[in-house]
Amino acid sequence: MNRKEQFNLLFPNTPAFRWKQIEQAFFVSSIAGWDGVTSLSKEMRAKLVDLPWMSVSTNTVMVGKKRDTHKALLNLADGQVIESVLMENVRGDWTICVSSQVGCAMRCGFCATGKMGLKRSLTSDEIVDQYRFWQTYLTNQRPSLPSNPSRISNVVFMGMGEPLANYENVKETLNVLLAHTDLGKTRITVSTVGVLPRLEQVLTDKDWPHVRLAVSLHSAVAATRKQIVPTSYDDFLPKLADWARRYLDVLGNRRHHLTFEYVMLKGVNDTNEQAHALASFVRSIGNVRCNLIPYNLTDCEFECSEENQISRFLAILGQAGITAMKRKTMGDDIAAACGQLIVLTAAIDKNAV
Ligand code: SF4
Repeated sequence: MNRKEQFNLLFPNTPAFRWKQIEQAFFVSSIAGWDGVTSLSKEMRAKLVDLPWMSVSTNTVMVGKKRDTHKALLNLADGQVIESVLMENVRGDWTICVSSQVGCAMRCGFCATGKMGLKRSLTSDEIVDQYRFWQTYLTNQRPSLPSNPSRISNVVFMGMGEPLANYENVKETLNVLLAHTDLGKTRITVSTVGVLPRLEQVLTDKDWPHVRLAVSLHSAVAATRKQIVPTSYDDFLPKLADWARRYLDVLGNRRHHLTFEYVMLKGVNDTNEQAHALASFVRSIGNVRCNLIPYNLTDCEFECSEENQISRFLAILGQAGITAMKRKTMGDDIAAACGQLIVLTAAIDKNAV
């Protein structure tokens, strides 16, 4: 049960604006607990002390050598631990990468989180509170950070878990963040391995806010994709293309495109043939951008593509008129890079602050 449901149980006949006041207070950095929510009566505040003000607490924070990537291990009330990442982006702004589940059921072959299996989905409180945790952290650490940041400018759902497998709680989180922070819809990206029933739901759900979506494609050749993403199936690619065309028909515009994420795996999905297959797949859809992600070392059979092959791959996409870029690798020295999030408490000591 999340905080809002607990509040409604405690105060069944209270008007809805009361909860909105509380939600607003969650995002005021000078308010550190129920006592600070002075828009509520003393009696109400006294009754609220049993509700957690924060649903996550700090276990450890590891900081990369350049101080541009910070990875937090956060404790949850039931003893589970999740990882969440803060990083400086290319514009000198700060992005957080939040987890939506403890572990993940999708078992992508290159991903450390997939090896944990799924423990459980996070509540919306536990996702929202990753933002609140980083907001406080950023305020406290500000003088020691490279670009003296004052705010979180982007949120990406690319941490542990498959966000669309936790659809309702992710939707609730998005609506809370959009209502109570200065983040606009184009500043939030939900990344999915491609859970098609939920992608269909996104098209018709009036309460789903149209933040950016990124689909982890990893190959436009069915057999190769299945090798990388074992939960993929034979007709996934044509079905995804059909969905993507409808999505872009309804929502596509200059500011709203779709992104395909593509982890670069040596000799698996990085050949020229694979680049041509990706180019034709994207051209059959429309306004899709491709992010090539150099593979970050985890304990699995894959190796990262050679630099010159990544350049060739990018060139083939460019010649086909496709907007593509190679994502900068960040945080690999503290296992905070894409695909590396796994709770390995034995490995955290040396970089902990
Ligand atoms: S890449 Fe994402 S969807 Fe795949 S196993 Fe890892 S966390 Fe899950």
